[in-house]
Amino acid sequence: MPRGGVTHRGEQMALIAGLVHDRSTDPRIGELLGNVEGTPLLSDGESVEAVNVRELRRDFDRETRLPRRLVEEMARVSALSSQAWSEARDHDDFKSFAPFLEQTFALAREKADAIGYAGVRYDALLDDYEPAMTTDRLSELFAHLRTELVPLVESLRNQPRSDSNSPEREFPVDRQRAFSEEVAAKLGFDRECGRFDLGPHPFCSMIGTGDVRIAARYQPASFTNGFLGVLHETGHALYEQGLDAAHYGTPMGDAVSLGIHESQSRLWENYVGRSRGFWLHFYPQLQKAFEEQLRDVPLDAFRATMNVVTPGLIRVEADEVTYNLHVVIRFELERALLDGDLRADDLPSAWAERYRNYLGIAPENDRVGCLQDIHWSEGLIGYFPTYTLGNVYSAQLFDAAERAIGPLEDAFAAGEFRTLREWLGENIHRHGKRYVAADLVEKVTGNPPNPSALIASLSQRYGG
Ligand code: ZN
Repeated sequence: MPRGGVTHRGEQMALIAGLVHDRSTDPRIGELLGNVEGTPLLSDGESVEAVNVRELRRDFDRETRLPRRLVEEMARVSALSSQAWSEARDHDDFKSFAPFLEQTFALAREKADAIGYAGVRYDALLDDYEPAMTTDRLSELFAHLRTELVPLVESLRNQPRSDSNSPEREFPVDRQRAFSEEVAAKLGFDRECGRFDLGPHPFCSMIGTGDVRIAARYQPASFTNGFLGVLHETGHALYEQGLDAAHYGTPMGDAVSLGIHESQSRLWENYVGRSRGFWLHFYPQLQKAFEEQLRDVPLDAFRATMNVVTPGLIRVEADEVTYNLHVVIRFELERALLDGDLRADDLPSAWAERYRNYLGIAPENDRVGCLQDIHWSEGLIGYFPTYTLGNVYSAQLFDAAERAIGPLEDAFAAGEFRTLREWLGENIHRHGKRYVAADLVEKVTGNPPNPSALIASLSQRYGG
């Protein structure tokens, strides 16, 4: 779209949002739900009918509390604001974006107040992405994580760097692509019900049942980034492909939450794809594909290059240990912006201060600072914490899987991934939205969401 089209696009988005809002708040929906609520049909709270009615009611009630004018305004501002963000980032010009950010948070405040909340305002927004999670529980969980991670990052800061991924070694993109797609298929990605493409940013997208697509991004200078990106998206895809197609289009055929979705991607990326067993199986094949690049690199030296911990400024390029600190920073800042304790104009300095405190570095400009992520410009507030919840859940789920199945390292070394995939299918995927995230985690792992498993795993894998 040419730059000049953005105002018109904003009007279109506002109209569509308004029309969707009218339909989804039709009083007839409330009547129909009311007709079945309290009847014996729903007496078993875990039945398909009860789950679907519960979730439809939840969506209906939330939507009904929002005035159409606000829904339209959020859509309009989101279109204008994301364009302004993209230009501000290109020119490192935060000042031009600040008024949009201010407006976006003012609308988010209005939205939260319209929906209502029991605890704090942020709860109402968080509920869009991680239903039933509260700001209080999240703050506690993040405080626990921060206390453990800051010293761990500090102790790893001076780790020697290995060089087999250095720019001198080029990994031709077509061979990276062939290898990555073959591995994804071995992990269980069903190519009859999905496909791979290239894109500017890695993502996984479900078009409909039987059609789950992955876009990957490969860079010649770094095999690890592209490959782990594919494993990450494969984890998302296995979840989508594992949902019960018979319930497609209803809550029972839908993912629980963004946090649970992210737990699936992180589990395959970090607990499978970084494991020694995994590479015992795949490294000979990789060496064959990149003979001149890897012939003289032993397995463990290769794995060391995958697991370097270096505090950096960019969230999407962060390693497994520092990643969550990027999320903690965004969570703290968006809460302050929402409550009006921080003005948009003051964001760059607040951003730099937190990066100095938590990661010991500060951005030299806003492009690599507070302008790096698209989320806020699109009005996605309350979304960032789900990335870390995904990491927290993934550690708990992998622990539980090993308790149920036995140690998985040997299975991976033998190229056996089906048992783990089926365990996830049985315990997570097939339930759709039957349980809210925290209940599902507790049911499967025996514990409510908490970061102990993640901290233990990071300390064990990186601390040694
Ligand atoms: Zn993801």
